[in-house]
Amino acid sequence: MDASLRDEAVGLMRDLVRVDTSNPPGRETPAAHVVKAYLEANGVACELVARDPDRANLIARLPGTGDGPSLAFLGHTDVVPADAQDWTHPPFDAHLDDAGYVWGRGTCDMKNELATRCVALAQLARTGFRPKGDLLLISQADEEDGTDEVGMPWLLAERPDLRCDYAIDEGGGARLELADGRVVYTLQVGEKATLPATITALGEAGHASIPTLGRNAVPLLAELIGRLAAHRTERRLVPAIRGMVEALGVDPDQGLDRVAAEVGALHPAFATEIDALLGITIAPTLLTGSSARNVLPGRASVGVDCRILPGDTEADLERELALALGDGIPYEVVLDQGITGGTESPLSTPLHDAIRTAVEAHEPGAVLVPQLSTGFTDAAFVRQAFGTVAYGFWPLTVTPLDVYEAGIHNRDERIHVDDLGVAVAMHIRIAETLLA
Ligand SMILES: [Zn+2]
Repeated sequence: MDASLRDEAVGLMRDLVRVDTSNPPGRETPAAHVVKAYLEANGVACELVARDPDRANLIARLPGTGDGPSLAFLGHTDVVPADAQDWTHPPFDAHLDDAGYVWGRGTCDMKNELATRCVALAQLARTGFRPKGDLLLISQADEEDGTDEVGMPWLLAERPDLRCDYAIDEGGGARLELADGRVVYTLQVGEKATLPATITALGEAGHASIPTLGRNAVPLLAELIGRLAAHRTERRLVPAIRGMVEALGVDPDQGLDRVAAEVGALHPAFATEIDALLGITIAPTLLTGSSARNVLPGRASVGVDCRILPGDTEADLERELALALGDGIPYEVVLDQGITGGTESPLSTPLHDAIRTAVEAHEPGAVLVPQLSTGFTDAAFVRQAFGTVAYGFWPLTVTPLDVYEAGIHNRDERIHVDDLGVAVAMHIRIAETLLA
């Protein structure tokens, strides 16, 4: 690790953390200006592109010679809000403690990643690296909320010149020591899709003073929710998870209960997630009953967070819901909006090889393991818009994973400075391997 590049990235990250880009409302433009000033001082041309002047996106480009693939480094500038009273150090001060941790909102998600990608790009520019294809940096607004459509989906529709062969975004890269002593780094290759539903129990309204009048929909809904919670959805291996299972050395062609048990035994992070990665998940969350305490409602509903696998359809979810809800209680199901996400990039690609080369150089013998996210990142929009091979990868080698994960979207978010040093070095190597 080059300590001066590490310190450069730490300085840039701290400057970015001090710009409060809590979304809503976002107001990312001052953060885009921080990135622009840094990159331009290092000879990289930048452009701000904004639908809303307070919410600028940034595009930087190291032009290629035109005879090879292009690569984009991605990094959103917005963060989720932080309530300062819950924090050990104020969330927008970017406090650096004696143990080498920088505290603040965005130090894990993802001003850390953005800063290291900027420094990697700047260093490549300073050293005269001439890529075969363009090396882009896209720093977008409005990833965390997305309702204003000023960030990635808008930008990609507006700027077809951002088409790129490969992209690296947030979401993977954790270094895990397995129970059997092996070391793996995760590589996020796709994500599950969201497909929210509302389920309404259908009864008959009546006066609540005589509960046997009518047919109160609330206890009917309670029974339906119980059935949803007890239901086990069908399991299958999508390509990304088959790749994960194989990379971990577990036989994918045995029963999936065994697969889940063996994968889960290798690391607590896998144990937590593996069930959700093998099928549709159905989580009842939002309740609506009567609008008046003295009225038995004829309808009572639950909003359900449903997540489906890449390749699943609305019909697949409807079939699972019908199996879960069973017979005997009248109900209706409405899918509130269409499928969002569910994109997946192939596993065997030159970008995969370049990342594996960088991991191998940093830690010989470590294995790169593909994974799917149960959440969502802007990488999905890049896959959808251009068919780009997009992976989530930012090496997390020093900050303990539990500290890192506990801070994301929560209080006391913090990162060790050495993680930034390793990340800069790996991004430089990845670009050099893929684009030289
Ligand atoms: Zn993020």
